[in-house]
Amino acid sequence: MPFKIGNLIKGKYCQAASKETIKSLNPADARDVVGIVPASGPRDVDAAVAAAKNAFPAWSTTPAPKRAEIIYRAAEAILKDKTRLGRLVTREMGKILPEGLGDVQEAVDMAYYMAGEGRRMSGQTVPSELADKDCKSVRVPVGVFALITPWNFPTAIPAWKIFPALVAGNTVVLKPSSLTPVCAAMLADIVNRAGLPPGVLNIVHGPGETTGTYLAAHHGIDGISFTGSSAVGHRIATLALANHKEYSCEMGGKNPIIVMDDANLDQAVKGALWGAFGTTGQRCTAASRLIVHTKIYARFISSFVKAAKKLKLGDGLRGADVGPLISLDQMKKVLAYIEIGKKEGARVLFGGNRAATGALKNGNFISPTAFTDVKPDMRIAQEEIFGPVVSILKAETFKDAIAKANGVDYGLSSAIYTQNVNNCAIAERDLDTGIVYINAPTIGAEIQLPFGGFKKSGFGRKEAGGRGGALDTFTRWKVVYRDFSGALQKAQID
Ligand code: NAD
Repeated sequence: MPFKIGNLIKGKYCQAASKETIKSLNPADARDVVGIVPASGPRDVDAAVAAAKNAFPAWSTTPAPKRAEIIYRAAEAILKDKTRLGRLVTREMGKILPEGLGDVQEAVDMAYYMAGEGRRMSGQTVPSELADKDCKSVRVPVGVFALITPWNFPTAIPAWKIFPALVAGNTVVLKPSSLTPVCAAMLADIVNRAGLPPGVLNIVHGPGETTGTYLAAHHGIDGISFTGSSAVGHRIATLALANHKEYSCEMGGKNPIIVMDDANLDQAVKGALWGAFGTTGQRCTAASRLIVHTKIYARFISSFVKAAKKLKLGDGLRGADVGPLISLDQMKKVLAYIEIGKKEGARVLFGGNRAATGALKNGNFISPTAFTDVKPDMRIAQEEIFGPVVSILKAETFKDAIAKANGVDYGLSSAIYTQNVNNCAIAERDLDTGIVYINAPTIGAEIQLPFGGFKKSGFGRKEAGGRGGALDTFTRWKVVYRDFSGALQKAQID
């Protein structure tokens, strides 16, 4: 049975003013309609932004530890519901069940972490150059935030935005991907029921081109936190700048794993397999390029092929290792890239086809695919494919490997497998990405450090925890000078 979900505005569920709806489908079996949600228009967005604006004065002046208590209760409630939510993530998004549960766990981790921030969020107190005067900086909330999220982490990414935004005292309007709206709605429902005042957390569902565009440009919004494709992120950043809104855009990647001749080969093969085909390659940090040293190339390829052939493609709720692509359109896009790769002269090492027989016939399945004979300037080595397709390149030397790794427009995540400590340090310094992994694949970020990319992968502030992370996105610094001398004192002059 499909879930029938409304927009959440001022604490109440409602349909779109137009009464139009969108269906979300199970990508493993399109006959299974997971949810029916409103296709919101301008009037719905206006109402959600107005609700957030009205809720802002009281919420932003609620003591942060009190805001954090609600977030802590939300963390406990999500954890209690982890199995149900994890299964829902698998059903609506397609990632295999252990990853569906991991998606929810990430939301829990972020909630606990940000609940802790309620009693931290420290600024600075520094001495004044004048007597009887003090100087400090404090974090203040930005206002109403638009949170626009993709489908590939349907509970984790909304949580990455909702919890820091709320603990910092902002109110929000979330527009989740219309491919996975139910996951976001279920998460938000739990958070809301943990005790949020009406209007603090609002959701409007709808397509990006209409609902998303209108929300991002809305005059009542003070900041935008976006995660999605580079093309849309670019548009949103431009819009935010033009309208003086705070923004953070996390976008695509073309992430490399370097395998050096001194790597632990078994570990590198396992890492490459997980990096490339985990989440069916649909992670912004997925390893879509393997850059392998010529000296161990043949051995690496032979083990990689052997390991990849064991991967079971199928429904993530039925024990598969690799699940479906999110949608028919995404599957067609990936198949088109496979044809592009062949035309460019790359060789299909394995996979390369849609799998549509037996239990897979109603789903969007593509066999895990690898290309060899890939040249660095080929489109399959440069563009984000966002599917289970990996391009394998050769490197003659360590320097060549680093140059190839950096030779793309993206800069999100990178990895190197080597036992050479000096090369580890050089790679850590020279890989031009926001995240670098040593002897681990390109995926698997933890929430307690900032997350985000360089170049075409990220604009503006970062996400997640730690210094320079999400709290910087969701707060502004206010500097306060307090003079208690009872006289006029002049800095730099007296
Ligand atoms: P997308 O850009 O198509 O959509 C992302 C969100 O933006 C959705 O909610 C969508 O409805 C909305 N949207 C689309 N067009 C819009 C517009 N013109 N104005 C306002 N909103 C609009 O991306 P997607 O297909 O949902 O997600 C896949 C992409 O997300 C990949 O490129 C992936 O690399 C990226 N991603 C990045 C990160 C990261 O943290 N760097 C994490 C996950 C996914």
